[in-house]
Amino acid sequence: MSESAKLLDGKALAKRVLAELGGRVQACTAAGRTPCLAVVLVGDDPASKIYVRSKERKAASVGIETRDHRMPATTSTEALLERIAELNADESVHGILVQLPLPAGVDERRVLEAVDPRKDVDGFHPDNLGLLMLGVPRFVACTPQGCMRLIAASGIELSGKRALVIGRSNIVGKPVAQLLLQQNATVTIAHSRTADLEAEVRGADVVVAAVGRPELVRGEWIKPGAVVIDVGINRVDAGGDKPKLVGDVAFEAAAARAGWITPVPGGVGPMTIACLLANVVEAAEAASS
Ligand code: NAD
Repeated sequence: MSESAKLLDGKALAKRVLAELGGRVQACTAAGRTPCLAVVLVGDDPASKIYVRSKERKAASVGIETRDHRMPATTSTEALLERIAELNADESVHGILVQLPLPAGVDERRVLEAVDPRKDVDGFHPDNLGLLMLGVPRFVACTPQGCMRLIAASGIELSGKRALVIGRSNIVGKPVAQLLLQQNATVTIAHSRTADLEAEVRGADVVVAAVGRPELVRGEWIKPGAVVIDVGINRVDAGGDKPKLVGDVAFEAAAARAGWITPVPGGVGPMTIACLLANVVEAAEAASS
C-alpha cells in the first residue's frame, strides 16, 4: 500500500461545528440568555495563557461571552473554591472552565469537584465522568469528543472494529476509550506499562494516541487503511529559532499506510476548542429548560 492517507482536517471540521453553533448562540441571545463561559486561569503558565486566549477568541467569534478570572500563582485552594462557588451561584454564567494545570499546592481534585456539574463544560467532574461510564453522557470532555467527531468524519463504522487508545489519562485516554466502546468497537487501552506497543498498534483499525511523546508510534506499525487520531502535542527542537510541533505518531511514515490521519497541528487541537464551545451552548440551552 503506497497510497497516501486522507487528511482528517480538524481546522475545517471545527469551522463547520462553529458555524452550526453560531445559529444556536443567536437563538439563546434572542431569548435573553447569551451563552457565557467563565474562564479561570491561576498563575502564569505560558502555554495555559495561549490556550485560554485562543478559547476566548473562538468563543467571541460565535457570539459566546467569556469572563476572565485571572488569579495569582499564590492563590490558595480555599480562595479558588470561593471563586468557583460564586460562579456556580451566578445564573448568567453557563459554563466554568478551570484551566489546567493548577499551580502545585492547589488541590486540583477538590477544585474540579467543586464545579457545578451542570456548568462543567470540560466534563471533568466525577458526576459527568460517571454518566459517561454509564453510557448516558451529559458533558463529554472536549478532546475525547473532538476525537470522536474526527473519527465520524472518516466515515469508518466502528462496530466490531479494533480500537487502540494509547494513554490512560482521566481527561483523554479513559473517556475516549469509553466513547469508542459505546460505538461497539473492541477497545484496548495501552499505557506506559504495556508490554508490546508495536503489536497492539499493528492489530488496530483505529489508533488514538494521547501520550505526549514525540513520534512514539512509528509509521510502519500502522495497519494499512487504519484511522489514526494523534492527540499529542510535543514541542521539539528542529534547529530553527522556534520549536516544531509534532504529534505522538511519526506522521509522514504513518500517512503512507493509514486510511485517514489527523495532522499536528490542525487536527485534534481545533476540535477540542470547538467541542468546548458546543458544551457551553448546550449548558446555556439546558439552563432555560
Ligand atoms: P498524561 O501525561 O496525563 O498521560 C499520558 C499517558 O501516556 C499516560 O496514561 C501514560 O500511561 C501513557 N504513556 C506514557 N508513556 C507511554 C509509552 N511509552 N507507551 C504507551 N503509553 C505511554 O497526558 P494527557 O493529558 O492525556 O495528554 C497526552 C498528550 O495529548 C500530550 O501531548 C498533551 O499535550 C496532548 N493533549 C492535546 C490536546 C489537544 O487538544 N490536542 C488536549 C489534551 C492533551
